[in-house]
Amino acid sequence: MNQFQYTRPAETAVAIKSLAKEPNGYFLAGGTNLVDMMKMGLVVPDKLIDINRLPLKKIERTPTGIHIGALASNSEVAEHAYIKAQYPLLALAINAGASPQLRNMATVGGNLMQRTRCPYFFDTAMPCNKRTPGSGCGALQGINRMHALFGASDKCIAVNPSDMNVAMAALDATIHVTGVKGPRAINIGDFHRLPGDHPELDNTLQKGELITSVDLPAASSAYNKHVYYLKIRDRTSYAFALVSVAAALHIENNTITGARLAMGGVAHKPWRLTAAEIFLKGKAITEDNFKQAAQIAMQGAKAYEYNKFKLKLAPNAIVQSLKLATGLAS
Ligand code: SF4
Repeated sequence: MNQFQYTRPAETAVAIKSLAKEPNGYFLAGGTNLVDMMKMGLVVPDKLIDINRLPLKKIERTPTGIHIGALASNSEVAEHAYIKAQYPLLALAINAGASPQLRNMATVGGNLMQRTRCPYFFDTAMPCNKRTPGSGCGALQGINRMHALFGASDKCIAVNPSDMNVAMAALDATIHVTGVKGPRAINIGDFHRLPGDHPELDNTLQKGELITSVDLPAASSAYNKHVYYLKIRDRTSYAFALVSVAAALHIENNTITGARLAMGGVAHKPWRLTAAEIFLKGKAITEDNFKQAAQIAMQGAKAYEYNKFKLKLAPNAIVQSLKLATGLAS
C-alpha cells in the first residue's frame, strides 16, 4: 500500500470539507470493500477520511417510514426488530449476502457504494474500462458467466454485486446525501447507473458527496407478509449472486393487489421489474401468471458467450421466488 493521510472527524461538515480539499481522498466506513481494493492496488488514495465517528448510525421510525443511518451496520439493519417485522425483504436480502463477520463491519452506505466483482476489474493485468477508462473490457470476450443481461454497453457488462441494493430497489428507498453544495435526496432507481460510455461511474453521487441515510417509505411496509429473497449462487454462502430475486406481494382475497419485484446479478444496477409488477396487479396467485410475469420481465435480455444459462435461470428464479412468497411452493 502507498502512504496516505488519515483523519477521523466527528462532524459531518468537517468530513465533507476534508474530502473537498483532497481530490484523491476517500471516505472510509466499514472498509470491507475499500481496504481490499487498496491492498490490490486498485485504489491508491492520498487521504482517507474515516467517518466512523460521525453521528450517522441511528435506525429510527419516522412518520413517513423508517430512517436508517448510513453507518448502521448490515447486521444492525437485518436484526432490527421493526425492520424484520415491517420490511422483512430487506433483512432477508442482507442476510443472504457476505458472511456474519462482514455484515458486522459493512455499513449501509458502503453497501450502496459496493463495486462490481467482475474478475477483470480486480486483475490489473487485464483491460477494464471501469478501472482504467479507455483500456477496453476484458469480460466482453472473456469469461463472462457472472455478467449482465440487461442495460449493458459495449464498454462494460458488469453487474452490481449487492443483495441489499436489490431489496432497497423493490422497497423504493430514498438515499440522502450531502456535500459542499448541501443535502439532496435520490430515489434508489436514480442512484446506481447503467454503464453507458462511463462505466467508471457506478452511481450518480457527485464528487465529495457523502451518503448520510436511507429512508424506506411507510407504503413499502404494507409488503411485509408475502416476501421472498431468492439468491442463486455457485455455493450456498459467501458467494455473489448469479441471479437473485426480491419479491414482495400484497394479497387480498387470493388476488395480488400490488407487487414489488427486483433482480440482482443481471445489471449494472439493481433491476426493478416494473412491467412484471404491473402485469401481476389484479391477477390470481397461479403458476401460469407467475410464468407470464417472468416472461415479461425478461424482455430485452441479452446474454454473452458464457452467461446464456442466465436466460433460463433468471425467469425460473422469478417464478420460484413468487411461488415461495405466496406459498405455492415451500
Ligand atoms: Fe471492467 Fe466492466 Fe468489462 Fe468487467 S465488464 S472488465 S468491470 S469494463
